[in-house]
Amino acid sequence: MSEKKTCDTLIKGIVISMDPKRHVYLDGFVAIEKGLIKAVGPINECDYDSDNILGGKDYMVLPGLVNVHTHLIQGCMRGMADGTTYEERFFGFYYPMTGACDEERSYIASMPPIMDLLLRGVTTTADDHFTHLHKKSIDGVLKAVDDSGIRCRMARLTINDKEAVPEGFREELDEGIAETERVKSTWENDKISVTASTIGITYCEPDQLVELWKWTDDNNRQFDIHAPAVMDHKYLASRRGWEGGSFEWLDHVGILGPNLISAHSQNLRPGEAELISKCGASVALVPDMEQVLGLVNFDAKKFLESNVTCGLGLDGPVVAYGHDLWTAMRSFLTAQRMGDQHRTMMSDTQTKWTGDEILYGNAEQALELATIDGAKALMMEDSVGSLEVGKKADILLIDRSSESHLTPMGAMIANLVYGNGPNQSAIKAVMIDGEIVVKDGEHQTIDHAQVVKNSDELQETLLDETGARQYLRKRSRFTWVQ
Ligand SMILES: [Zn+2]
Repeated sequence: MSEKKTCDTLIKGIVISMDPKRHVYLDGFVAIEKGLIKAVGPINECDYDSDNILGGKDYMVLPGLVNVHTHLIQGCMRGMADGTTYEERFFGFYYPMTGACDEERSYIASMPPIMDLLLRGVTTTADDHFTHLHKKSIDGVLKAVDDSGIRCRMARLTINDKEAVPEGFREELDEGIAETERVKSTWENDKISVTASTIGITYCEPDQLVELWKWTDDNNRQFDIHAPAVMDHKYLASRRGWEGGSFEWLDHVGILGPNLISAHSQNLRPGEAELISKCGASVALVPDMEQVLGLVNFDAKKFLESNVTCGLGLDGPVVAYGHDLWTAMRSFLTAQRMGDQHRTMMSDTQTKWTGDEILYGNAEQALELATIDGAKALMMEDSVGSLEVGKKADILLIDRSSESHLTPMGAMIANLVYGNGPNQSAIKAVMIDGEIVVKDGEHQTIDHAQVVKNSDELQETLLDETGARQYLRKRSRFTWVQ
C-alpha cells in the first residue's frame, strides 16, 4: 500500500463541490494545506491523511457562501424600515443614524450583520459604504470585518448630488478618491479589497461618476452601483435630461462593462437586459428585499437566460432584517415564480395550465448563485466560490445527523435551500483560509453577548442623539409598557 501524504486538515463527508461539472461526492473528501485546497474528490481516491480530520459520513461539505450586496453599517437600525414611508426612512433615520456613526460606533453597528453572515455560512461579502460624515466610519466597518475574519470586497461610494444627498454627506471627487486611496492602503490585505464607486447615477455629478469608474478601471477593480437606483426614477429625466434607462446611460458614457456590477437591476427598459449581457456586466440580485418591498415583477430569468453573471445579495439590514443568504436563495425562486405568474396574468395571451409546466429555477441553481456565481459576480472566482484544487479553503461543514428537515436524503439540496438552510447548531464549522472561524455555532474570538449588548446600547444613543426615536413603533398596533 502506498504511503499517504499528510495535509493540515482533512474533511470528509458529502462534498458539494460547485466545480464546473458540479460534482457531488456522496462519500468525498477535501484536503487542506496552508489555507488552500490541495485535493478534492471521492474518498476512495484520497491519498491524504492528517492529524486533524473533520466531518464524517453525516456531514455535508460546501464552499462558503458569497453575499454580493449589503450596507453593513445599517446594523444600527436593523428592521426600522417596517411601517415607514420612503421619505421617513431616508431622511428621518438612514442618513442621520448612520451619519452619527464615527469609527467606534460603525464597528459596533456593523458587527451584528457580519456575525449573522458568518454564523450562517457566508465567508465572503461585498459591502457598499456611503455615509462618510465621519471619514473614519468606513474604518470602523473594516475593523469589524478584519476582526471577524470574513472576506470582504468594500466599495467606498462617493456621493454629492445636491437633491439626492443631504449636506454633509456630499464629497467632491478629489476628496472621495483621496479617501478611497487612504482606506485602500490602510486596510487591504489577503482578505480585504477596496474599490471606489457611487450609489447610483443620480447621486453623483455625471462627469465625476465617470472619473470614479476610471479609477476602478485603472486599478483593476470593480465598480459597484445601484441601477436603477431609487432616485433615478425621480431625477434621471428632470435633472440629467436623460429619457432613457439607467443602463442605457451607463452604456452611453462608456462604463457598462465587465468591471461593473449593478445591484437590484429590476424594472428595466426593453432591451436593457440584453445590453448588460452584451457589455459583460454583472448583476447583484437582491430577491429577499425585493419581496419584502412588494416587487411583484421580479425577474432574474432574463439575465440568467442571456448569460449575465448574477450573484445573490441581501442589501442593508434596515430592510434585510436577519442577514441570511439562505433566505435569499429561497426568495430568488419564489420571487421569480411570482414574477412569472404576474407577467402571465398581465399578458393578453394567458396560457392555460396544462400540467406540463415546470416552474423556473431550482434549488441547485439557487445554490450556484450563492456560491460560484456570486464569486464570479465579485470577480473573485479564481480564489473562492467552489471547492477546487488551488482555491482558498473557505468551507462550510454541516452535521446533518440531527437535522430533521434534512432527512430523508433524496432531495438533499432542495431541502437545504427551501428549508432555509441548516440550523445554526448544525453548522459545525465555517472555515476561511483553512482556519475555523465559527465552530459549533459560535464565533471563535468574538463574544456574541457583547456584540448584542453593544449594539443595543448604540441604538439607544443614536435614537436620542438624532431624534429618530419618533420612527420607532410609529404605526405599531401594540401597546408598549415601559
Ligand atoms: Zn443597496
